[in-house]
Amino acid sequence: MTPVLIRMHERDNVAIVGNDGCLPAGTVLPGGPTLREKVPQAHKVALIDLPAGADVRRYGVNIGTAKAPIAAGSWVHERLLDMPAARSLDGLPMATLKAAPQPPLEGHSFMGYRNADGSVGTRNLLAISTTVQCVAGVLDVALQRIRSELLPKYPNVDGVVGIEHAYGCGVAIEAPGAEIPIRTLRHIAMNPNFGGEIMLVSLGCEKLQPDRLLPPGTIPLSTGVRLQDEQHVGLMSMIDHILATADSHLQRLNARRRESVPASELVVGVQCGGSDAFSGATANPAVGFCTDLLVRAGATVMFSENTEVRDGIAQLTTRAATPEVAEALIREMAWTDAYLARGGVDRSANTTPGNKAGGLSNIVEKAMGSIVKSGSAPIAGVLAPGEKLGNSKGLIYAATPASDFICGTLQLAAGMNLHVFTTGRGTPYGLEAVPVIKVATRSDLARRWHDLMDVNAGRIADGQASIEDVGWELFHLMLDVASGRRKTFAEQWKLHNALVLFNPAPVT
Ligand code: CA
Repeated sequence: MTPVLIRMHERDNVAIVGNDGCLPAGTVLPGGPTLREKVPQAHKVALIDLPAGADVRRYGVNIGTAKAPIAAGSWVHERLLDMPAARSLDGLPMATLKAAPQPPLEGHSFMGYRNADGSVGTRNLLAISTTVQCVAGVLDVALQRIRSELLPKYPNVDGVVGIEHAYGCGVAIEAPGAEIPIRTLRHIAMNPNFGGEIMLVSLGCEKLQPDRLLPPGTIPLSTGVRLQDEQHVGLMSMIDHILATADSHLQRLNARRRESVPASELVVGVQCGGSDAFSGATANPAVGFCTDLLVRAGATVMFSENTEVRDGIAQLTTRAATPEVAEALIREMAWTDAYLARGGVDRSANTTPGNKAGGLSNIVEKAMGSIVKSGSAPIAGVLAPGEKLGNSKGLIYAATPASDFICGTLQLAAGMNLHVFTTGRGTPYGLEAVPVIKVATRSDLARRWHDLMDVNAGRIADGQASIEDVGWELFHLMLDVASGRRKTFAEQWKLHNALVLFNPAPVT
């Protein structure tokens, strides 16, 4: 086996093992020292002798300082490193990078569903919103009947999605922060994949009343079903009412047809989960290359995950298109710092046992690999959690927690019509409302999870493909998936995670 080391930047004094499994002690590394101990795949090796207190550099930045001397050829893991403090949010460079604009990328299109509000769907779904968890059981019974009795009559409709959640009652609905879950639910109902057909099931006595969830006029009274209304006698009358209402929405959705639209109508949410040290070397750089292609094509790309960008805040404020965008980035990071501090933690609470087993020593190293998904375009705008994209195009920072389900839910509310998810450890993540393209960081994962991973970016580490190759592959796959010509594995197997609301306000 030829030993493979992956070094991210010329200033780095560590590199990661690229080979499957591990490299044994005594391995002579290419252009480097001899391994002093066995080092697992994706874990770091010291390229030179590092004295105590030395900066350990990966991605060209300090990811930690050595607690004790580390000899060249040693395994550099998290127990040997002290994590640097988070950079202050004062005195950051504001929109200082004046990058030359990239040439437009023209001539790419997909087949989508045009909506009355100008947005474009990649799927044709009926969504049934809810005000409160109390109605979920009744809605589930109705959903089963809609799927078995109604959907077969409407072949142009891809499915029906229940927007179920734990919010709506038993919550401090006037508290600061409560607007986040409320506007998230409101904006999910307006997602481009739901065709503007808003249907609502409510209970009657809940705190989140229909007119609080949806602005008056959004939804005709006739399309709401309220279970406590006196007209309902027995469960079957509720179910019949939901089915009759759904039927009228399905008739209209079924009449829609796909049409050719420019690639600029894509609204792509990118995120990662189950990350490893390969994430920042293979999958995320390929996604970043593809992000640049999409931005050049006039599309919208959202990146997110506050705790995974906090340590790169100076990179982001530098790349902000305007000082106002840089201010908005700082506002979201300050909000997140305060939110975490209220719970007695900081951004380092992000990392998981799997991240560490995958070679990521701490949140600084994880953040550097995560930010790469954003490519190199200027950051054109910032969304607070649960906000919806307006007319803004280009690269957008959608501020969200890094939790996969909460991030996906908030990107859905922002208006995403396609989702890209990178993973190194492996996760079967999927959402019912939007196609999720999953990208494996390692070939070993792509081989074992051959019917779950849509793209294998591990070929970059294997030397079989370049970052550009995988980036273009992903770009073309996105157009195929957006057009409905291809289904992702998560769609094929119907693997769907729950929507999870971000509620920073108290429950009562
Ligand atoms: Ca995530």
